[in-house]
Amino acid sequence: MKVRHLTHCNNLLLADEMMQALQDAGIVCGMHDETINEMAGLYRGDAAGYNLMVDADRYDEALALVSRIRQQYEDYVPSCPVCDSSDVEWRAQPGRVPRSLWWLVGLAIVWTLLNNNILSWVVTGVFLIVCIIAKRTRPDHTYYHCRQCDNDFDND
Ligand SMILES: [Zn+2]
Repeated sequence: MKVRHLTHCNNLLLADEMMQALQDAGIVCGMHDETINEMAGLYRGDAAGYNLMVDADRYDEALALVSRIRQQYEDYVPSCPVCDSSDVEWRAQPGRVPRSLWWLVGLAIVWTLLNNNILSWVVTGVFLIVCIIAKRTRPDHTYYHCRQCDNDFDND
């Protein structure tokens, strides 16, 4: 079976919905999540997302299916509460680790450099791991951005 790149989405909700529809239609498909790799922390906004791959033989059918879902999805996009424009786009930002946690890591590193013993290295390591886990497990913050007045607003 040949695999072909179908589409790119920058939000997981939409990507999941497309995957579900493709599977329901019996089209072999897969998703590549660009936000899960060592570079995850560097991605911002539209850069990272989800690539959908499908069986190349059923590409046209799959494309029609996801185009319809994307269209439905875009129909739900609300208008800007400030200027009432519907020229808005969906944006997602990777989950952020609270700043206080990074301060703790910073303090732990300073403390480690001053003491330079095994215990302080272990404590610093634990802090770092907690930060990395927190970063990976925090959900993306998603919101709408108005292209007319640059207002950002929540989607709920
Ligand atoms: Zn606006």
